[in-house]
Order: sequence, then C-alpha cells, then structure tokens
Amino acid sequence: MIIVMRPHASDEEIEAVTALIAAMRLASHVSRGSERTIVGVVGVSEDKETLLAQFAQLDGVESVVPISRSYKLVSREARSERTVVRLKNGAAFGSRELAVCAGPCSVESREQIDATAVAVVRAGANLLRGGAFKPRTSPYAFQGLGEEGLKYLREAADRTGLAVVTEVLDTRDVALVARYADMLQIGARNMQNFGLLREVGAARKPVLLKRGLSATIEEWLMAAEYVYAAGSHDIVLCERGIRSFDPQTRNLLDLAAVPVLLSLTHLPVIVDPSHGTGVRSLVMPMSFAAVAAGADGLLVEVHPNPAAAFSDGPQSLTLQNFSDLMARLAPIADAVGRSLPAPALAA
Ligand code: PEP
Ligand code: MN
Repeated sequence: MIIVMRPHASDEEIEAVTALIAAMRLASHVSRGSERTIVGVVGVSEDKETLLAQFAQLDGVESVVPISRSYKLVSREARSERTVVRLKNGAAFGSRELAVCAGPCSVESREQIDATAVAVVRAGANLLRGGAFKPRTSPYAFQGLGEEGLKYLREAADRTGLAVVTEVLDTRDVALVARYADMLQIGARNMQNFGLLREVGAARKPVLLKRGLSATIEEWLMAAEYVYAAGSHDIVLCERGIRSFDPQTRNLLDLAAVPVLLSLTHLPVIVDPSHGTGVRSLVMPMSFAAVAAGADGLLVEVHPNPAAAFSDGPQSLTLQNFSDLMARLAPIADAVGRSLPAPALAA
C-alpha cells in the first residue's frame, strides 16, 4: 500500500502517518521527493479496506493506493498522470514534445564535443550526450576523460543551450558527475547495481535509466523503483536493446517494450537505436519506428568523424546523417501527435 502525501505536507503530518503505521505493527518506507512525500506501507495482509479508510482520513494525505505489484511507486496505479521530466533548458520527457539526446559515445576532446554540440543543436536536439566515464568490456580500452570530459561537455552545452546527460559508473563519482550534468545516466551494465541506484536516487537529479543487457521489463521497473524510493522521482527509462542469439545486430531492440512500459508505469520512455542495433544504417529506420511506437524521445550517437571515434564508431551517425534524421522524423512525429523539440538555441 502506498500513501501519497499532498504537496508540501508538514513533517508533523508525515510523522502522524508513520506513527499510525508503527502502531499497526507494519513497516513504513518514506520517500521524500522535491514536490511530495510518499510513504510505502509494508506487510499489509488483511482487511485492506479498513486500513485504507483509516489512512485516508489523516491530515496531509492525498490518496491511499493499494498496490499488489512488486514495483509500486513507479507503477501506473501509484500515479494517474504521466510524469513529465523537465530540465532547466526546457527539454521535457513525457510531454507532447519529444526529447532528443545526441552526441558521441565518448567525449574525446574539446574540439570534438564542441563541433558535435553546434551541429546537433542546429539539427534540433535538446540534450548533449557523451561519456566521460565509459563502461568498457576490456580494461585496456579507452575509459573516458573523467572530469576533463565533464568540463568539455558542460562548456559546450552552456554555449549552445543544450542540457547534459552523461553516465556515472561508480558511487564515488556521483557528486562529481552531478556537479556538471543536468541528468545522470545509469548504463545497461549497472542497471542492477543497487548501491549505485540508491546513491544516484539520493542525488535528486533527473535520471536516465537504461535497460540492463538482458533485463526483463519487471527487473527494469524494480531498478527504477530503487531510484524513486531513494528520492529522485524524475526518472526516464531508455530501451537500448537486449542480448539475443542473432549476431546480425549488436542487440535486439525491443520496441514492444515502449507500449508495454507506457501501460505499466507513469515514467517517460525513450529509445536508443544506436546501442540497440550497433549499425549506422539501422539508426534512422529504428528512430522512426520508436517514435511511431510512442517513445517520448531518442538517444542517438553522433560523431564528427565516426571512422576515427574512440568507441562505437560503426553505430555513430555523422553530423549530416543526424540532421537528415531529424528532418525526416518531423512528419512521423506529427503523424502520431508529437512534435520535435523546440530549438534549444534561438536562430
Ligand atoms: C552509453 O549510452 O554510452 C552506453 C554505454 O550505453 P549502454 O549502457 O546502453 O550500453
Ligand atoms: Mn556507445
């Protein structure tokens, strides 16, 4: 059972709720978001109707929701309206307008990220992506520029009006990455790193949570539940393909996950056709399909010179490819009642 407090309920009102829960010999879990507090009640077995009515009467309580699913706070039942995650530059995930995150796999140099930022903002992206901490399969592969990369990202984003989304790999780096980024990315390999999920949730920044390499939708929603319960309620799910038996593509992009998630959770959902396919020529058709399927946005790898990229060159679009993609995406978005992002940079 979930007790949703009214926005700005007082500490006394929240304490009255947890005191009643304790008096009933049940356990409570308090999640304080920037707008409202939610109290989870654990251990309810019988007479749910009476309990529900008792809690609903308390001051400061907005609603009481009985929830049988294993994920609770992120479920549709917990919140009737869809969550819209808004960033300071105006980018929004979950509104009529799509959110488009574009940029290289890795931040490689100031020049590379500057050139990419200018090109993607002109083409209509509203977030700049790029890894400063890279989760590489080999310990000998390029691991990212670390804080230097974060600085380049921030500078390029500030010059162009873009927001920054970048991955954090380690609990020890959460505060550092949060200083530079507008949105913290949890990558596929860390989707079930529960310590990291808690730490990122406690940072209260918007979070982009990618699907694990072979995670079920339920496991993915449970990962989102960790972040939500830890305090960040601005979570965006990103489908990025799952492992399959067929080596034709790098991963199997599960576009059915988009409408499935939209029926199970109030959180926004975007699609990453770059990691989802691993093949440059598939990024455009899969972007079209993602938007047609109801995705709230895209995450696309773009590089000024993919042949020389330090990582993921074969799936990276050129600057021109990305501009073509955005031009051809506009009528598809329109056909399903969506629009491309308002330009982050005027003129
Ligand atoms: C990325 O987006 O930079 C990335 C490493 O993707 P994933 O975690 O989906 O593999
Ligand atoms: Mn990549």
